[in-house]
Amino acid sequence: MDSSTLSLLINKIRELDEWRDSFGTYELDKSQHVPSDEIETVFDELVDRLKGNYPFHHPQYAGQMLKPPHDLAWAAYALAMTINPNNHALDGGPPSSEMEKEVVRKLAKMAGYGDIYLGHLTSSGTIANLEALWVARSSHPDKGIAYSSAAHYTHQRMCQVLGMQGVEIPVNERGVMDIEALKNASGNIGTVVVTLGTTGMGLLEDLPEILNFCKENNIRVHVDAAYGGFYKLLAHHRLMKRPEVWEAVDQCDSFVTDPHKHGLQPYGCGCVLFKDPAVGKFYKHDSPYTYFSSDDLHLGEISLECSRAGAAAVALWTTLKLFPLKKSEGLGLILEQCLTAAHDFYLSLLDSDHYQVIQEPDLDIVVYFPITDELTTSSITERSRKIFTAGMKSKKSGLHLSLYRMESNGFSTRFPHVTVDTETVTVIRSVLMKPEHRSFIPELMERLETLWKQTD
Ligand SMILES: *Cc1c(COP(=O)(O)O)cnc(C)c1O
Repeated sequence: MDSSTLSLLINKIRELDEWRDSFGTYELDKSQHVPSDEIETVFDELVDRLKGNYPFHHPQYAGQMLKPPHDLAWAAYALAMTINPNNHALDGGPPSSEMEKEVVRKLAKMAGYGDIYLGHLTSSGTIANLEALWVARSSHPDKGIAYSSAAHYTHQRMCQVLGMQGVEIPVNERGVMDIEALKNASGNIGTVVVTLGTTGMGLLEDLPEILNFCKENNIRVHVDAAYGGFYKLLAHHRLMKRPEVWEAVDQCDSFVTDPHKHGLQPYGCGCVLFKDPAVGKFYKHDSPYTYFSSDDLHLGEISLECSRAGAAAVALWTTLKLFPLKKSEGLGLILEQCLTAAHDFYLSLLDSDHYQVIQEPDLDIVVYFPITDELTTSSITERSRKIFTAGMKSKKSGLHLSLYRMESNGFSTRFPHVTVDTETVTVIRSVLMKPEHRSFIPELMERLETLWKQTD
């Protein structure tokens, strides 16, 4: 933990205390008081329990999509939390509501939506997607939603919540929506969900081709870029194979990205954007509880959720001031490290005699498997599990990975020399979402080789 951030935070809390005291001081009610030895005991237990976490902060954690927020993001969040503004209405937190509008404008610009759009932060990517699908239903009441089998599992669930027909489209050999299957899909499809950065393998679906088909057939397109969205900044990076995928985003009806994934934020920060602000008409409500003291648009008037942490907007606002949404500075530099880490890791795996990489990564998620003597799907599964477990055993020289289950059929088309003796095969997945992963790749490779030998 950066001690300068800690002292900055304490200083700023004190400054806000002066502002608090400027309204006149008062005694805290006795009911809020707790003896200090009790506090000490409970916080001791708390710290002990928190130590039960995996080392998400460390580059040796190369498993799931998990990492702590940037220190400055949580410092801003904590500072705002001493006030606890609520962004459901302007009066719940006038400054944090303004900040939300400012950051949403930046995200809309990143998406290519220009000055005309409708959007706001949400408490998660799931809620942001729910909102986009809810608008899809309102736009095409009798039509269904199509998403690929690589889409986030919540799309199917959201279709159930909304009482809509969800149509799952199979993936092609690259692991993304099969466009021919989409064209032949049965059912009356009103909206297609295109995932940019699939949760499993971080793949980019073929947005330009899907968009062409949808335009011809009057089908809406929703982009779920909860994981990958910020990579739009690197659309023209040398390692980004298809910039046209990102360039097509501005023609889509809605766009979701999660600042709490690649935007350095603590959990509780998603974002949904709509290209056509006229969809705002679907949100109309006149609750007697929300108080309207100005004629400006209230964020609560254009969102499904009511209460939302204003602190989330404050943290994102601060972060984007310090890490602007640019290709060659700010957030772009951080993402470039992750993209390069994944590419370097991919190349190292190609060189390894003990591991086989599934395919070249589009973003920063690499999926691979240990090479076993038998070369069967069952032995690969068993060995992957052993490596996963063995990696977590050591503290300083450990390696935290995640497991990923694939259909053996799709797997065997890629690797015909592997004998299929199980329906699914479990392989290893590493999300390299920290910039520190880049310089850690040689070490990561070494630890993987050691784990392979240990589990032989
Ligand atoms: C993570 C993710 C979601 C869900 O977002 P939450 O913020 O976890 O609710 C949806 N879609 C994709 C592609 C994701 O990666």
